[in-house]
Amino acid sequence: MGIKNLEYKREVAWYSMDDVQKNATDDFSKGYIDFLNKAKTERECVREMTSIAKAEGFVDFQDVIDGKATLKAGLKIYWTNREKAMMMAIIGKENPINGLNMVGAHIDAPRLDFRPQPLYEDHDMALAKTHYYGGIKKYQWVSVPLALHGVVCKKDGTKIIINIGEEADDPIFVINDLLPHLAYEQIEKKASDVISAEGLNLVMGSLPYYSNDPEDAKGVKANVLRLLNEKYGISERDFNFAEIEIVPALPARYVGLDKGMIGGYAQDDKVCAYTAFKALLEIDDIPAKTCACYFSDREEVGSMGNTGARANWLENFFFELCNAYSVANDGKIDIAVAARRSMTSTAFLSADVTAAFDPNFPEVSEPMNTAYCGMGIAFEKYTGHRGKSGASEASCEFFTGIAKVLDDAGIPWQLTEMGKLDKGGGGTIAQYMTDLGMDVIDCGTPVLSMHSPYEVTSKVDVYWTYKAYLAFFMNY
Ligand code: MN
Ligand code: MN
Repeated sequence: MGIKNLEYKREVAWYSMDDVQKNATDDFSKGYIDFLNKAKTERECVREMTSIAKAEGFVDFQDVIDGKATLKAGLKIYWTNREKAMMMAIIGKENPINGLNMVGAHIDAPRLDFRPQPLYEDHDMALAKTHYYGGIKKYQWVSVPLALHGVVCKKDGTKIIINIGEEADDPIFVINDLLPHLAYEQIEKKASDVISAEGLNLVMGSLPYYSNDPEDAKGVKANVLRLLNEKYGISERDFNFAEIEIVPALPARYVGLDKGMIGGYAQDDKVCAYTAFKALLEIDDIPAKTCACYFSDREEVGSMGNTGARANWLENFFFELCNAYSVANDGKIDIAVAARRSMTSTAFLSADVTAAFDPNFPEVSEPMNTAYCGMGIAFEKYTGHRGKSGASEASCEFFTGIAKVLDDAGIPWQLTEMGKLDKGGGGTIAQYMTDLGMDVIDCGTPVLSMHSPYEVTSKVDVYWTYKAYLAFFMNY
């Protein structure tokens, strides 16, 4: 016997996985790669999830709110907010006043946006000015193929979906970098200054438009406008109001000879969004508690804005849910009291990625308190920086309860903190959920090269993240 079991050890999950689990990992990662290629932006994510949810029998919660449908146990609902944030739920047998089991991920990602007045011509080259969104290392966004994704609203009420750079015969866009031969000064600069924000200008074209009419417009920018007008029926003024996002035109792929990792843009936080989404779809029986997914926008810029996690929309969901429950039952519930109790009784997994240990940069991680690729979903009791500032912390009682569910289900998981102390830090939507009184813990898939145009995860961790969210829905 001895005392060998007193020590806590962790190892790569692959050692203890059987063939069924290994095959399931492969199947799951194929679907995930496919999803990453279809849903690079928050709007695309909502569109893709809504279409799958509808096919799986989910109905629009707005119909319940409007009295066209009745809330009942087993009802599957989705609810969207301005095409950029989304709620999904499977109504449980219990009164929502008892709280929900909820997983929340964000579906926005660091990127470049067109500025309101983007297009210009300089020395017979057409370019577009961008404004970066979220925490990027600007030098990573030059010399990589880029695509335009977005939406233009016309004054006649029509909405035009823009997507250029994803099809094989589409052109792509690029921000040029300086050749090393002439970069003697550039290379001496601080990494934050090597490429300036005002230098993130996208090449849009190089061939001029001209015609026999001397009164007609001419030049390279004119030609870009002509091409955009032919394809989408838009003109320069439309960009003033448009939302055009510039994202890497790189498809998600397996990484490594063993295909053990997945490379792709915006895995922060599409990986947690997709795994939570798939876990909710996997629930067959009517759960005791209502199980819900919350997909938020604007996390990368602080969660403010009416589609972000700080917006009242999330609270409104609880109020509407309790109201719908009341309407469907005795109708005697005080909605305000019920909604507040429902929120404070809710268990919330703040599903967001964390930094994985990188052998290229061991100096930023504290080896005992860091996440490793392949060891499963990583739990962070708290985020923040410099003395746990700016974050919430999960209680011992709540965390133990979650840990029991995972251990009982045989799910590999690991503990982490974001880097060595005082090296940096980060935050998630967790704190805004604790403001509402929920019990919250951060947990998600470890990621390498986070916020770069090509992030990397372990397919093993992706699979166990999905299984962890499923176990939480079913058994917590
Ligand atoms: Mn994130
Ligand atoms: Mn992030």
